[in-house]
Amino acid sequence: MAARGWDELDVLFICGDAYIDHPAFGTSLLARLLESAGYRVGILSQPDWKNPEAFRCMGRPRLFAAISAGAMDSMVNHYTAAKKIRRDDAYTPGGTAGKRPNRAVIAYTAAVKGAFKGLPTVIGGIEASLRRLAHYDYWDDKVRRSILVDSKADLLLYGMAETALLTLAERLKNGEKISDIHDLRGTARLQKEPSDTAIQLPAFEAVSSDCDAYNRAFKRLSEQQNPFSGKPLQQVHGNRTVLVNPPALPLREAELDRLYALPFTRLPHPGYREQIPAFAQIRNSITSHRGCFGGCAFCAITHHQGKTIQSRSEHSILQEIDRLTRQKGFRGTLTDIGGPTANMYGLGCTNPAAEKDCRRGSCLFPQPCKNLQTDDRRAVRLLGKIRRLERVRHVFVASGVRYDLLQFQQRYFDELLQHHVGGRLKVAPESTSDRVTTVMRKPGVAVFTDFLHRFRQRSRQLGLRQEIVPYLISGHPGCELSDMVEVALYLKRHKLQVEQVQDFTPTPGSLATCIYYTGKDPFNGSSVHVPRSPHEKRLQKALLLYHKPESRQDVLEALKLCQREELGEELTAHQIRSADHSISQAGIKRSGVKPSRKKTKRRLATKTPRH
Ligand code: SF4
Repeated sequence: MAARGWDELDVLFICGDAYIDHPAFGTSLLARLLESAGYRVGILSQPDWKNPEAFRCMGRPRLFAAISAGAMDSMVNHYTAAKKIRRDDAYTPGGTAGKRPNRAVIAYTAAVKGAFKGLPTVIGGIEASLRRLAHYDYWDDKVRRSILVDSKADLLLYGMAETALLTLAERLKNGEKISDIHDLRGTARLQKEPSDTAIQLPAFEAVSSDCDAYNRAFKRLSEQQNPFSGKPLQQVHGNRTVLVNPPALPLREAELDRLYALPFTRLPHPGYREQIPAFAQIRNSITSHRGCFGGCAFCAITHHQGKTIQSRSEHSILQEIDRLTRQKGFRGTLTDIGGPTANMYGLGCTNPAAEKDCRRGSCLFPQPCKNLQTDDRRAVRLLGKIRRLERVRHVFVASGVRYDLLQFQQRYFDELLQHHVGGRLKVAPESTSDRVTTVMRKPGVAVFTDFLHRFRQRSRQLGLRQEIVPYLISGHPGCELSDMVEVALYLKRHKLQVEQVQDFTPTPGSLATCIYYTGKDPFNGSSVHVPRSPHEKRLQKALLLYHKPESRQDVLEALKLCQREELGEELTAHQIRSADHSISQAGIKRSGVKPSRKKTKRRLATKTPRH
């Protein structure tokens, strides 16, 4: 501040993550955006929430404090699916755990209010966004009130907040009071008087005691998520009302390009002495687009980034790569070109009228929509141009791909296999039981099997030794032990091995969490089995890892419970090697660069496919 000649800030950002000046991190992106509009912005990263002085180190900001828990919900960041405390935190220097509080948005907002009486407080990011209405909280095992009630923040910005934040700053700068701002898209607020026009959701008191009311609220909220036609919503909490305005409109290509052209250093704050694991993961990766139209039940990306794909121009992406490749330490490898789902770059709805009124949660489920444009030429052209750049030696696509979409993208499929897999392609069927994939809103097993065959066949034709790494979830609503027996058999018979099992965690805001809480699908009312006991969850996980010797007893127990003992021999026989490995022969080359064993292990430990 002294170097810039600032005696005060306009906006103070408070964030639960380490400060990395890179467009992959929301706080940095928004801070650079406000800075480019002439605001004086400071970022306070991982402050000591018990000490008000820590919040005063840059003085009282003139307009407001913008508070975020960080890139993850703080409870997900702190606890495993089994509610055990995590020992590390990828968003903190040295991976050290414990640098942010539980329920960070609430704790930071209280600290700001203590440090600066009367300063407007604005909350945002994943934690605030997905807890904007009454929601089931897995860690408390109950329905919690809107985070607006618990934090007492003045305004909540949900989803991707660029437009709302810029407009808010402008209006406050022009002298409007934050208490008078009721109409801003992409925001929610707590007010005394209910709105005359907003759609009424069942009240907090109803959804916290009645599962059917909770399901009705979830369904109504989902129906109003279309930014082009969504209506304001409101939910009574005691004698006050949470008003949620319609989502912000998606950014146009030029707007998105402008964001990525902001002068990021692409580095962590120079004061840090230790490596930040999340930075190591993204430092050489490029975000080509945002949004996802997959609509998987367990994922909240569609709720946060929206269903409309917002793609950057080729020019903007190539410029960013040019800057990156000139940066000290770049060794020629781009680790990822992608977004929430890599193969959605450049895609979208072809029918603006239908898109405006669309209420589907997914453009791909239960069947790909006839209005969906799946033309892969733009993505293929982009990857080709990146490969030809002078200082780029290898380009990988590490973001997840939707294989049901890939069946319409032959050119992208070929490019991917030939140049960008790096030996292993992570895909996420999540289950191979059709009953379960229906609850998950994922494509069924036939589509996955077809993809697997095509992948193996084409890899052989290309003379490439590469394999599929399948990601599956255990304990997902709808998954019974008998389903998992079928999944284990499928894996065995298709010579696939799961290396990492994700135990289902009911994170705030997702459809799967709603089903977990209510035991019913909110869209069709059908009852859904929910694995809740640690015993059932353990057996499900063991079935996915049937090939590991330590799973043997649990696998045999699960087979007995399902009266499928005859499969014991087949499932617990000697450990197999993946068929994909078996095509290794003299003269067959690896695609891209083969990661060393050590590196592969590390990548698997830190990389989670976004789909
Ligand atoms: S009309 Fe079809 S393609 Fe368009 S947004 Fe709706 S589901 Fe997606």
